[in-house]
Amino acid sequence: MTERAGVVIIGGGINGTGIAYHLAKKGYTDVVVLEKGYLGCGASGRNGGGIRQQWSTKENITLAMESTRMFEKLPDELDTEIEFEQGGYLVLAFTNEEVAQFKKNVKLQNDLGLKSSFISPEEARDIVPELNIAKVMAATFNGTDGTIYPFPVIYGYARAARKMGVDIREHTTVTDMVTEGSTIKTVKTDKGNIEADTVVNAAGGWSAGIAKMAGVELPNRPYRHEIMVTEPFKRFLTPMVISFQHGIYFSQSRHGNVVGGIGNPHEEQGINQRSSLWFMRTMAKTLTDLVPRFSAVNMIRQWAGLYDTTPDAQPILGEVPEVDRFFQVNGFSGHGFMVSPMVDKVTAELILGETPSMNIDRLMVTRFEGMDLEMEYSVVG
Ligand SMILES: Cc1cc2nc3c(=O)[nH]c(=O)nc-3n(C[C@H](O)[C@H](O)[C@H](O)COP(=O)(O)OP(=O)(O)OC[C@H]3O[C@@H](n4cnc5c(N)ncnc54)[C@H](O)[C@@H]3O)c2cc1C
Repeated sequence: MTERAGVVIIGGGINGTGIAYHLAKKGYTDVVVLEKGYLGCGASGRNGGGIRQQWSTKENITLAMESTRMFEKLPDELDTEIEFEQGGYLVLAFTNEEVAQFKKNVKLQNDLGLKSSFISPEEARDIVPELNIAKVMAATFNGTDGTIYPFPVIYGYARAARKMGVDIREHTTVTDMVTEGSTIKTVKTDKGNIEADTVVNAAGGWSAGIAKMAGVELPNRPYRHEIMVTEPFKRFLTPMVISFQHGIYFSQSRHGNVVGGIGNPHEEQGINQRSSLWFMRTMAKTLTDLVPRFSAVNMIRQWAGLYDTTPDAQPILGEVPEVDRFFQVNGFSGHGFMVSPMVDKVTAELILGETPSMNIDRLMVTRFEGMDLEMEYSVVG
């Protein structure tokens, strides 16, 4: 039997559930969300919960600033505790190039209204007294950045969207799409077919594969990224600390556990969510070099998820030129949770033919045609 839906959203992560929520909030509920596992089983339930507005491009700064304001209101809106701790983000510079880039970043951030500051290594140590600043050349800090607990946000959106009439299906895998001319006629799943007017590709690390089902070639590719949590201990770390040079970030939750990850520069492209010994060793060494006090703490769990990475480390949003009403919400390159509120709101507006709250032209897939790309520099690789 073939069903019908106005909008089919592929992926039940933060973006799939968030877009469904925003559509429903606007009164549009002819929506089916398809998730092959459980809600949040992709990167959305595996990330570090970092919410950072200190970026190097106007688009990412704006998306993150607007999203932070939306996260602040979300507990009331969803009637859910999301553990949003605004203890700031301390970004460390270890090279002359980073110092020069960070100065530029702070200037742009300040011009856009973010009260971030460029600070000395000693000022960084005042914020994190146990920090080893021997090789730190400078830092930036913004006090309204912070961390969030991802699951209540995903499940809060899903609960609210379902209550308003959205159909969210877990354990339902999209297996193919049937196109006719420049339109997607049918979304095929392992539980039956759905005819749709609009299809949204919010499939994270799997999104390039989903796009291919409709004959669309996307430039984003999946890469494993690993992360861990320590046993809880007395809280001493207020901000999230991050170093692009080391590819590391870490924060301490309100429960006392340190959560952090480190990127492997030699990671091979592909769908791989297994844990590695390399990660455990490298994370432990880098973490204890930066904050020697961590040598007394035990790691209790490690896991992995997928970064969905684009050539310029910026997301792919909006419609693709070759297929009508096929919206992309992917390519977040390791920072898709923190920008999701604004991304999801704007995507819902575009789907409904409204003027978007933010212009996303520079984030559309067509930017890769000329390859005149603006790189986002502030990423953990
Ligand atoms: C270890 C790690 C740490 C990170 N840290 C941060 C951070 O601190 N802050 C931040 O903002 N971002 C972080 N990120 C990135 C962030 O988690 C992602 O950008 C974001 O969660 C993407 O959300 P999404 O909903 O677009 O994709 P996902 O959460 O990946 O959801 C996509 C969903 O699509 C489903 N799917 C795939 N194929 C199919 C199919 N054929 N049929 C049906 N469903 C399908 C998947 O099962 C998955 O649930 C991190 C990522 C990782 C891996």
